[in-house]
Amino acid sequence: AAKAAGRNCWRFFDPAMLSDAQEKLRLTNSLRHALENNELSLVYQPQLSLKDDRLIAFEALLRWHSTEHGCVPPGRFIPLAEQSQLIIPIGEWILSQACQFIQTLSKLGYADIRIAVNLSPKQLADDHFVGMVKQLLHTTQILPNQLELEITESALLTALDESCSKLHKLKDLGVSLALDDFGTGYSSLTHLRLFPVKTLKIDKSFIDNIPGKDNTLVDSLIRFAQSLKMNVVAEGVERQEQLDFLRVCGCDLVQGYFFSQPLPTKNAITFLQAHSTRNSCDDHN
Ligand code: C2E
Ligand code: MG
Ligand code: MG
Ligand code: MG
Repeated sequence: AAKAAGRNCWRFFDPAMLSDAQEKLRLTNSLRHALENNELSLVYQPQLSLKDDRLIAFEALLRWHSTEHGCVPPGRFIPLAEQSQLIIPIGEWILSQACQFIQTLSKLGYADIRIAVNLSPKQLADDHFVGMVKQLLHTTQILPNQLELEITESALLTALDESCSKLHKLKDLGVSLALDDFGTGYSSLTHLRLFPVKTLKIDKSFIDNIPGKDNTLVDSLIRFAQSLKMNVVAEGVERQEQLDFLRVCGCDLVQGYFFSQPLPTKNAITFLQAHSTRNSCDDHN
């Protein structure tokens, strides 16, 4: 099944060949060298405004093209990076790459585009995290609100008081904060009031059931978020009917394959440029 196929992604690791534990060990050992071997990269998925169709942000998503194992999906290797503490150096690299992309966009005249970066709970728990972000903002000279950090509910609940105080420190740096996969965790409405979070991302699993059984739930989540003056992003939008429904509900931003897959840097810039041109043409029509 697993034929050597060089740099492209058709060679998937065959789990039947080794026990799961052995496979995890092998993947983790390869992951230790992934950064130095240039096997990691970020791809960027657009987030568009439903109010005026403008591209507002990109979400940065990590990819691992392993020379040994082929393309390993994030759902597989991120838990291993977390268990091995490799997520700390890898997470720092992700943030510095994202900040460099922000610099590139600013030089091209797109200083108003935000880049959202996913955070692992392990990163937030790390004592050096807030200082590292502060340093990075200083060295790259980007506007802090061009960077958004995505955190999941479960990440915040592990050490509630500590996480909450770190979020406030990040907010004081001027960084934007988003709650990812909203609806799949356990945060109560009380918790939500405590977190200085600007954006709620409604999980794809709810968007999948539109139109259908989750119409009312999604509509309520959007109203709820907006009553707290939060922005709402719908994740995983794939179909026109979903878009139509979300528009009627007043959802702020949408992200999903309907608009674009996550794109390598160059393609993300091309997408942004094409999108901006189209918007300015529309304006003059
Ligand atoms: P997430 O942050 O909720 O990211 C959304 C996931 O949904 C991404 O999967 C994205 O490619 C996928 N997606 C977006 N639109 C659609 C759509 O219309 N249809 C479908 N089927 N999928 C869509 P991906 O890139 O595989 O990432 C999976 C998860 O891995 C992420 O979920 C996030 O939790 C984690 N992850 C990815 N990159 C990073 C990273 O840089 N750091 C950390 N800590 N976690 C990451
Ligand atoms: Mg995310
Ligand atoms: Mg999500
Ligand atoms: Mg997710």
